Amino acid sequence: MVDGRRHQENDDEGLRIDDRTYACGCRMIRHEFHDGSVRIKTVRHDGKVLKDEHSGNHEA
Ligand SMILES: [Zn+2]
Repeated sequence: MVDGRRHQENDDEGLRIDDRTYACGCRMIRHEFHDGSVRIKTVRHDGKVLKDEHSGNHEA
């Protein structure tokens, strides 16, 4: 990654975290949970939430 930062975490049970922060301040967050559901959130550098999705097996 040339500009921006990336933060990744995993555990042994299937949790995966992949957070990126871009040089301009935009953020992209992806979390995969133990049950296979995925949360993706995109926040623009001015703070506006462009996307906030949670898909998977959870009941809403
Ligand atoms: Zn930006």
